Amino acid sequence: MLRTHTCGELTANDVGKEATLCGWVATRRDHGKLIFIDIRDRYGLTQIVFIPKEAGEAYKIAQDLRNEFVIKVKGIVNKRPQGTINSKLPTGEIEVLAQELEILNPSLNPPFEILEDIDIGEEMRLKYRYLDLRRKKVFNNLLLRSDLYKIIRSFLGSRGFIECETPILTKSTPEGARDYLVPSRLNRGEFYALPQSPQLFKQILMVSGIEKYYQIAKCFRDEDLRADRQPEFTQLDLEMSFVNEEDIFSLTEQLMQLILKDLKGVEIRIPFPRISFDEAQKRYGSDKPDMRKVLNCDFAFVWVIDFPLFKYNTEEKRWESEHHPFTSPCQADMGILEKTPDKVKSRSYDLVLNGMEIGSGSIRIHNQELQEKIFNIIGIDKENAYKRFGFLLEAFQFGAPPHGGVAFGLDRLLAILSGELSIREVITFPKTSAGFCPLTGAPSDVDERQLKELNLTVKKGRETK
Ligand code: ASP
Repeated sequence: MLRTHTCGELTANDVGKEATLCGWVATRRDHGKLIFIDIRDRYGLTQIVFIPKEAGEAYKIAQDLRNEFVIKVKGIVNKRPQGTINSKLPTGEIEVLAQELEILNPSLNPPFEILEDIDIGEEMRLKYRYLDLRRKKVFNNLLLRSDLYKIIRSFLGSRGFIECETPILTKSTPEGARDYLVPSRLNRGEFYALPQSPQLFKQILMVSGIEKYYQIAKCFRDEDLRADRQPEFTQLDLEMSFVNEEDIFSLTEQLMQLILKDLKGVEIRIPFPRISFDEAQKRYGSDKPDMRKVLNCDFAFVWVIDFPLFKYNTEEKRWESEHHPFTSPCQADMGILEKTPDKVKSRSYDLVLNGMEIGSGSIRIHNQELQEKIFNIIGIDKENAYKRFGFLLEAFQFGAPPHGGVAFGLDRLLAILSGELSIREVITFPKTSAGFCPLTGAPSDVDERQLKELNLTVKKGRETK
């Protein structure tokens, strides 16, 4: 390493030691005879003092320093004089008396100061996201995500789950949104769809005998954006064979309990309360009830169960799935599927936290005939069903085990855990509410040559940006 210590590490116990630090100039105060620098890295801040006599050449170089220059500084740890101790900083009792200084890279004057509580427009923050990420609050949100992933991987790994990847270039999976399409160069006129979720692949993995699958999966849905939506987002997606609802509930509750304990130091009670869809609508006028007041606690989880299997699309005059068409109907309602679809309950469940849906799943259909029947009720006839989902219907005929699963929206969960109002605050490189990336300029037009290779022509129309 170029350094011996980080900028958050040195304390009064290190007084007298020699230390080399690397980082960014956070502030520079030139008092004529002395120059003070706060040097910042991801771990913290340390004050450096340049005294002309002791620093020599380094003092001269320090005169050229500006905010955000990347430097390497060597010196001796010194106890700060009485009255200059900063009790708000872990390193506030010491300073480093500089002996050597190297500018590793100068910096332009940043478009905004790297301070915790300044008000910067979102477009500016996202255009210079690399500078925005130097702020502790934004950085801490990334750290929280990394810690969350570690907990998830160790919890599910220790319970026999296998982490499997599924394709990004794939076929449309219906989760109720528009697909993002990718034209195929080798198969002209044909398109891949980016997955709205790994739903069909995880069910196929159950047919293959994986039994316990999970994936921290990127999902893509072309929807109108809101504070809690992004065109691409991350789910913890999991699926299990030979289970019923209770197995999914108990696994989820243990995982959430661990997450809250490890990340927030909060003990939550399990099992979570359950409320039926009808009851939630009647009592709270919502299928995402915020139970914080009712349960008298700051993280209030509730399972919403007994959803209807179908809802009526009045515009298109047809039934459609309340969740997705792979959800199993309740055993008791099998006989009324076609007669009274409005009365059929599903084996699906939503996990709601503080009034926000953070997870959704179901026990699935694993039988080809029943799956065909459900497609038929929602207006997908046999020919169309085989065209779109033939691979799943075929797989169901090769010994598909009973299975079920759930998927959690990790961006929403992280926003709640970090107390952020928007999921954009917990995503490394988010897009604006108009789906635009100010950093890269995506989406953008492409070369004529690329369009030609894809056999595509673009009609010049209304600007969408
Ligand atoms: N695939 C579903 C979704 O993304 C979740 C699930 O049913 O497991 O909403």
